[in-house]
Amino acid sequence: MKLILPNPRGFCAGVYMAIDVVEQLVQMGQDKPIFVYHEIVHNKHVVDRFRRRDVTFVDSLDEVPMGSIVVFSAHGVSPALRRQAVDLELTAIDATCPLVTKVHAEAIRYAEKGYQILLVGHADHQEIVGTRGEAPDAIQIVSSAKDIPGLQIRDPDRLVYLTQTTLSMDDLSKIIDALRDAFPNIKAPPSDDICYATTNRQKAVHAIAAECDLVLVVGSKNSSNSVRLTEIAEASGTAAYLIDDKSELDKDWFEGVDRVLITAGASAPEDLVREIVLYLIEEYDGDVEQRDIYHETIEFGLPLTLKKFMRAHGIDGENRRIVRDDAVALDGWLEAQGITHQTVGMTIGATG
Ligand code: SF4
Repeated sequence: MKLILPNPRGFCAGVYMAIDVVEQLVQMGQDKPIFVYHEIVHNKHVVDRFRRRDVTFVDSLDEVPMGSIVVFSAHGVSPALRRQAVDLELTAIDATCPLVTKVHAEAIRYAEKGYQILLVGHADHQEIVGTRGEAPDAIQIVSSAKDIPGLQIRDPDRLVYLTQTTLSMDDLSKIIDALRDAFPNIKAPPSDDICYATTNRQKAVHAIAAECDLVLVVGSKNSSNSVRLTEIAEASGTAAYLIDDKSELDKDWFEGVDRVLITAGASAPEDLVREIVLYLIEEYDGDVEQRDIYHETIEFGLPLTLKKFMRAHGIDGENRRIVRDDAVALDGWLEAQGITHQTVGMTIGATG
């Protein structure tokens, strides 16, 4: 069995940063408990690992005792929630991904200019809830082209669309076509809102899925970008499954299967991918081919709120960065395990 692993897969810069925020707080050994508003990133294992280290995840700030430390997750929060944190005298540490913050800033700017904003995304996703909160009177949500006839538009010449960062590029382009048909003068965001990590992982699956018999996407069911990767693989005609970890593998999936693409959503830890690789090698005598599609170089430093908090406790977090170099790291790991592997370069014009 050939196991194909694309680079990039798994953690993006925003997820590395958000997880590191909680990690730094845990390591600081505060005497106060640490609360995180929503899952820090949408991954069951990431959340469970922090739970085991006494981090508490809440869906409402009403659950957080006055004066506690609270981390806002990578998906961002609304201004109303920030105000609630101030009222509760919480020490709020903001782990919102800067690429989500960029969309918030666009929403604020267009609302101030008097535009109506069509926010394309999944209405109940944390990111959309947070972005919408920046200008609730100016923003309407578009989840699919079917929502377009129900929109209340004041002036079709003062209309802009913005999007969730983790949508499928294919789905979005259909929705944008339908929006342009309905409102020919609608403005596009100044730069793409779908982030580089979503784009690159989707392009990799697009490029490779059709030559495989099976695609495994490691990620949680509530991870938007992981679900999109699974859909993209299925759309290419290859059976695809979204799994949290090795325990969800089903032997029936592998009957007559010679080539398996194993990728991971932006919030899925690499060690879960490696467990699956080891298992499949043992069960099916597989070897590994890495496809180096794009070497991502984006990295984010710690958020200002955390740096300030660390400074107040005599810790310098100013220049801290998490550097990703999965291709190199995987080579070393494969060699250490004695696993036959090769790395194939494959340029498909990815970004970031
Ligand atoms: S998927 Fe994109 S927007 Fe979301 S955390 Fe990662 S880099 Fe940021």
